Amino acid sequence: MILKEIDGNDRLIERLKYLAASEKLFHAYIFEGDSCVDKSLLAECFVKAILCQEDKGDGCEECTICHKINHGNHEDIISLEWDGKSIKDEAVEELQVKLSKKPFFGNRNIAIINHADTMTIRAQNRLLKTLEEPPQGTIIILLCDNIENLVPTILSRCVVFRVNPFETVEYGEIKEQAQLLVKMLLNKEPFYSLKGKLAEIAGDKDSAMKLLDSMELTYRDLSIINTKESRNYTKDYIYRAVELIEEARRDLQRGINIGYAMKNLIIKIGG
Ligand SMILES: [Zn+2]
Repeated sequence: MILKEIDGNDRLIERLKYLAASEKLFHAYIFEGDSCVDKSLLAECFVKAILCQEDKGDGCEECTICHKINHGNHEDIISLEWDGKSIKDEAVEELQVKLSKKPFFGNRNIAIINHADTMTIRAQNRLLKTLEEPPQGTIIILLCDNIENLVPTILSRCVVFRVNPFETVEYGEIKEQAQLLVKMLLNKEPFYSLKGKLAEIAGDKDSAMKLLDSMELTYRDLSIINTKESRNYTKDYIYRAVELIEEARRDLQRGINIGYAMKNLIIKIGG
């Protein structure tokens, strides 16, 4: 699979294609998304887009490099897995040894760390050294469900991308609901009708997180698309709404009551 074949996450995909094609690559990325999101597939496609020489920015699926990536045996791609519970210091140490060696094919070694948010603190501190002074050409991709488990010094050294669930029927429905909710907020509908709508959609943490993702996308779309409704809000209003959504997401990750976090969000956006 290549980047352009992935449904959903359109803006993120465009960004990744651009980065890979332009070679304006940073040395560390974090892909954060729910456990149901296939982040390793996305990482694999991104790596293909970077390494394929035939079709840079996407991948051709025909060349030796693409074949090797598809078969999981490309010598310059190092995958690090958890042991089912965590990623320990020793595992990161092994990774560092591999990254210090010259790449076999091209000029890059790429590490993909699955479940990176399960790294122990010692493991994170060890990885930090590589993030601070990466061997030339190295790219490290951390895949995680929840970036809150990573120490701030790691976060500050990575470009963080939030990955939304890939398009499915269920996701399509949530997207529609999110658009409706955003419209209700823009029209300043009364709190009780918004509250009713919320209770209907965001029953559990999983759907609440998906709703927040979709709401954020809807707001971001509003900031670039010009419609007759756009007279009703300013760019600042949109940015503020996106910030509040991010805050609500953090609240949910911290285990704050869903109903409370969501009501808080709409009151703040509405006000
Ligand atoms: Zn290729």
